[in-house]
Amino acid sequence: MKLGAVAKRFFINDVIGQVLPDATTTAFEYEDEDGDRITVRSDEEMKAMLSYYYTTVMEQQVNGQLIEPLQIYPRACKPPGKRNIHGLKVNTRSGSANNSSSAVSDSLPSNSLKKSSAELKKILANGQMNEQDIQYRDVLGHGNGGTVYKAYHVPSGKILAVKLIPLDITLELQKQIMSELEILYKCDSSYIIGFYGAFFVENRISLCTEFMDGGSLDVYRKIPEHVLGRIAVAVVKGLTYLWSLKILHRDVKPSNMLVNTRGQVKLCDFGVSTQLVNSIAKTYVGTNAYMAPERISGEQYGIHSDVWSLGISFMELALGRFPYPQVRLFITAACHCDIHSYV
Ligand code: ATP
Ligand code: MG
Repeated sequence: MKLGAVAKRFFINDVIGQVLPDATTTAFEYEDEDGDRITVRSDEEMKAMLSYYYTTVMEQQVNGQLIEPLQIYPRACKPPGKRNIHGLKVNTRSGSANNSSSAVSDSLPSNSLKKSSAELKKILANGQMNEQDIQYRDVLGHGNGGTVYKAYHVPSGKILAVKLIPLDITLELQKQIMSELEILYKCDSSYIIGFYGAFFVENRISLCTEFMDGGSLDVYRKIPEHVLGRIAVAVVKGLTYLWSLKILHRDVKPSNMLVNTRGQVKLCDFGVSTQLVNSIAKTYVGTNAYMAPERISGEQYGIHSDVWSLGISFMELALGRFPYPQVRLFITAACHCDIHSYV
């Protein structure tokens, strides 16, 4: 096993060397099931990666799923060249007087790196989000309920997406919404947008989530079938995860499917808080062309209604246009999220 791992590491370095001839590859990374990047520098770490991949493949096989390849991201740097012309040395041995933070992180096992990312998520999610710590930057888009900003969270140095929704509601309702949002802290899937926290300031709520640098799928026009197939797998996995928590998405559409440059696809804007959905609906006049007929006619609805919206969304993404002639549907202020009258 050890020999195999070493041989494979050299092989990977050879391949990387061919693609990036001017760079020196010192390590590479792979993504675990949470989407966290784990660095591989030693044989031990290579072993851990192979055993992780082996378990994943076995699970995929048992569940009759498509076997997904393990992607590896080289950590390449420029050749040493004129670096360190004075021949300075740093003692990286633990316990030494020069125990710098980089020396400490060098000695950390890969699962500690994973832990630190999980801890950050926990810190962010522990009600520590507040307006003072957030610097709003670009507007990412406007929806019917509010506006989404790219923002900088000063204490963590992390980029977030913050959705601001104006809401004129009582303190009691605000508390109810906050408690209904609690479940989002428990959502832990690489197919669901990470939730960092929410807070009310005056008459608006801010919802802080993971920033997705590829934006939403509605802007990508026609997506080739082989790419769309992969996207569909991620979206279905995201929905299955929500349904397993007894959460209906209720707003499946291309603008609520987000992508990033790591190739991840994640769902956002699902209706966990009935009060929030109702409060937004009171001021909402618009269309939801993706809504299932049973919702339009105000009947009971369930998982199959999300599946309807999924079908319409994927037809749109495959065709590059909405599959039906546009109809104008108006939602009345009296209903929650269901359409009462057509024009
Ligand atoms: P609706 O309000 O009808 O649901 P919508 O989904 O387009 O419509 P918003 O949810 O307000 O409206 O989002 C506006 C835009 O902001 C989206 O279309 C998307 O491009 C962008 N956006 C939303 N969340 C994120 C995020 N986490 N990361 C990056 N971009 C985002
Ligand atoms: Mg949205």
